[in-house]
Amino acid sequence: MAITSEPRVGQDARIGALFERLAELQGQRNVIDAQIVDVVRELEQDDLWAITGARSLETCVAWKTGSSHSHAKALAEVARRADVFPRCVAGLREGSLSLDQVAVIAEKAVEGSDEHYAGLAQAATVSQLRTALNLAPRPDTEPPSEPERSVTKITDDEFAIWRVKLPHVEAAVFDAALQSHLDALVAEWKRAHGERDSASEQAPPFPTVADAFMRLVEHGWDADAVARPHGHRTTVVVHLDVESQIGSLHLGPAISEAERQYLTCDARVETWFERDGKPIGVGRETREIPRRIRRALERRQSTCAVPGCGATRGLHAHHIWHWEKGGPTELWNLVLVCPFHHRLHHRKLITISGPGHAVTVTDVNGRTLDGSSVARPPTGPPPQAPPYAGPTGERAQWKWYVPFTPRPQRSDN
Ligand SMILES: [Zn+2]
Ligand SMILES: [Zn+2]
Repeated sequence: MAITSEPRVGQDARIGALFERLAELQGQRNVIDAQIVDVVRELEQDDLWAITGARSLETCVAWKTGSSHSHAKALAEVARRADVFPRCVAGLREGSLSLDQVAVIAEKAVEGSDEHYAGLAQAATVSQLRTALNLAPRPDTEPPSEPERSVTKITDDEFAIWRVKLPHVEAAVFDAALQSHLDALVAEWKRAHGERDSASEQAPPFPTVADAFMRLVEHGWDADAVARPHGHRTTVVVHLDVESQIGSLHLGPAISEAERQYLTCDARVETWFERDGKPIGVGRETREIPRRIRRALERRQSTCAVPGCGATRGLHAHHIWHWEKGGPTELWNLVLVCPFHHRLHHRKLITISGPGHAVTVTDVNGRTLDGSSVARPPTGPPPQAPPYAGPTGERAQWKWYVPFTPRPQRSDN
């Protein structure tokens, strides 16, 4: 198949017309994107989006617009920094810049660089903008953001030291897991050496918490390698004072009613009834979710049941009619939810009602949440917008490019 050197008659005209049409539509799209950014800004104010039980502004936008997380992230990013980049946003509003162009700027550029990048974006493609942003000198101080949980590690000549920071509820799960591995190691040790050997020189050292930790890691690793069975969660011990009805985690702090219900939904929990700090009995252990039921649940629905969430990992089986109140561990009474929405439900910020195969989720105002996007055919004319010429896309001469450098700030000391 030879390619003729002369273009076929009409091809030029056809592609020309197609590009014109693209320019027209993209111009309108840029204007519409600016209007969507305005809506997202309003959603962001006073955290309005949070009423829906969405986990972030981004997930709320992705859900309602039926778009990917990365597209929603771009919208949210531009919305959050619209005040810092008024010229770039104006370009979007006039149709001369695309959302993707403005989004890379909003995501990475420092304050005060609006004019620089608004000018550059008239000619630069998205990837060229990215390169330009990477050339900009990094600000010295990143705003410190203290994450809720963290794992940090320092090493010296001989050891590595981790510092693990977890909220109490998760820490209790960790404690319980560690303890169960320590118990197993101690039992093994006793089987092998008996009580009488404990003082002898020959016996290996008595298992420590560090040994239990490594056993926990190895077992987790093994299990993960086999099949990632996420059926069983660990036993959590809860102490419940019969007089005050105050529950507390084993060797841990007091827990709220919501936390207790959250924990008892899909973890094995032993409740120890106590009076004046002394145990007087042990309650029934929560039935774990049997593996078969767990599989059936996953087959019925592979994601978190809350509309717009879509989480697939670490899902909990929530009892719609709580097991503490007699709700059975059966398919019709169970629904998979992500830990975030599970907590939200037990804190009464969203409600999940059954039956399991057709749950209804409502927000804090009682409005039913539904999973589909709000998109519908337009009823009005498209916005007035000039055709979008797009960046010139010419080969960038990076050696002549002067990256944006913030003016040095006067320091008082
Ligand atoms: Zn639950
Ligand atoms: Zn969820």
